[in-house]
Amino acid sequence: MFCRVCRKHKQKVVRGTSQRPFIEVPCVRYRQDVLDGHMTSENHKTSLRIEASSTRLLTMEHAAIIGGFQCLYWLLKHEVAHHTKYPALLDLGKMLGCDYFSKLKIDKRTNYTSHYIIDEMVQILGQVIEEPYLKAIRTSQAVGLEIDETTDVSVIKQLDIHIRYLDNEGQLCSQFLDMVAIPDGTADTIVEAVRDVVDKKGIPVNRLYGLGTDGASVMTGNLHVIESK
Ligand SMILES: [Zn+2]
Repeated sequence: MFCRVCRKHKQKVVRGTSQRPFIEVPCVRYRQDVLDGHMTSENHKTSLRIEASSTRLLTMEHAAIIGGFQCLYWLLKHEVAHHTKYPALLDLGKMLGCDYFSKLKIDKRTNYTSHYIIDEMVQILGQVIEEPYLKAIRTSQAVGLEIDETTDVSVIKQLDIHIRYLDNEGQLCSQFLDMVAIPDGTADTIVEAVRDVVDKKGIPVNRLYGLGTDGASVMTGNLHVIESK
């Protein structure tokens, strides 16, 4: 038999044989006193200490990542400017005793609070939240789209797409699907944007039965239907 911890954190041989039982070679003496002897040895105790501290480090890193996501989710839910307030919220966490947030700072350049990493985290949160809805939509018997044009805080045009679908119990559900920037408000652009979103999200177009718009001709077309692929 071997000792997993001693083999993992192998200590240097100070004196005696380099073929140590439990470590380099298996111990073949199946006796309680032999086991007890190994468990009280300096070698084993040192290995246990290293193992304990590395486990604690790992746990702190996990806590930091989970806590980071929770903080960001909180900001998003409360519509607080997440890019500017996320580092401040983590600082508050540290002040209140969440030491593990210090694990987010790897070195001078990597601290998991840059705009880039925040955007990536938002994307991950979005995917996790969206996944169960998309699953239900993809297996729905009937779906319908609702689209409308809007503009963001500047003047960039956006297309807001919602979806209505029947869940597996036949209940009608309504869900935000996507918000995409569009270069202009022409019918061709809108059709292309809707197709992109429908493809990307895996919406079952063969079960797409309805379209809701504000009735503007650019939305309904001259035949009052959207061309289906
Ligand atoms: Zn050991």
